[in-house]
Amino acid sequence: MTNWSDRNRRQGNKIAFVPTMGFLHKGHLSLMKEGKRAGDKLIISIFVNPTQFGPGEDFDSYPSDLEKDFKLAEDIGVDVIFTPNKADFYPQGFETFIDQEQLPNHLCGLHRPGHFKGVMTIVTKLFNVVNPDIAVFGEKDFQQLAIIRRMVKDLNFNIQIIGHHTIRESDGLAMSSRNAKLTPAQRIAGLCLITALKKAQHSVKQKETNAAAIIRNAEDFICSHPETDIDYIKICDPDTLEDIAVIDRAVLMALAVKVGTTRLIDNVTLNPNK
Ligand code: AMP
Repeated sequence: MTNWSDRNRRQGNKIAFVPTMGFLHKGHLSLMKEGKRAGDKLIISIFVNPTQFGPGEDFDSYPSDLEKDFKLAEDIGVDVIFTPNKADFYPQGFETFIDQEQLPNHLCGLHRPGHFKGVMTIVTKLFNVVNPDIAVFGEKDFQQLAIIRRMVKDLNFNIQIIGHHTIRESDGLAMSSRNAKLTPAQRIAGLCLITALKKAQHSVKQKETNAAAIIRNAEDFICSHPETDIDYIKICDPDTLEDIAVIDRAVLMALAVKVGTTRLIDNVTLNPNK
């Protein structure tokens, strides 16, 4: 992989990279199109990274269909699909991890201890092996994007990070590989995430500035749907991810909700000036 990258860069190509865990959907494909626009060559990786899953999470049941993924990636015009294997990437004796002081202590980080340590470690390993000029990540995983931007700055990776807006189903549900695990009834209940976020945006438009009141409404709304179990609903500063009490500027509203056994996340901007 590294040789391919080096050779192509020497030939004057800018290399774009989109890391994924596979079971590709239109969200992934949109990131890939962005990568193709931004670079001359596009590499994607497909790797379900064990170190970012906690005990009891869905590592073993994470959906996979490599054959379909290859077809989709080929149709987009991906130049390389990198699929490292677990034993090569984490050989016996592996013991070095990347972590961060503050950003993981919010949102998903509080509910998935060690998750972002696993993410930072695998992204670092992939960056080192793939050696891209540009990498594209989705804003759907807003905290992940913030953490990677910080890591790239802090550790002097010479890689441009591009954030890409969230791609949604026609009814608003954020696309996710995990949506495939929802039953038809859960699929309908899952819409409560984006509906709660849209209601919050509407409240802010109506001049509501009290974050706690907006969060309470979202909680009540989500709880009224079957099989839902809220991990968190937060309104926070988009840079530090610290909670904010008064919505007096553009802020992030992010939530994570289990629908049945499937954990869904979503986020939007609340902007009182728009
Ligand atoms: P994953 O395969 O879930 O690890 O996701 C790989 C990349 O795709 C990450 O940068 C995600 O943020 C991004 N992504 C996942 N779902 C979406 C979506 N619905 N819209 C845009 N990007 C997404």
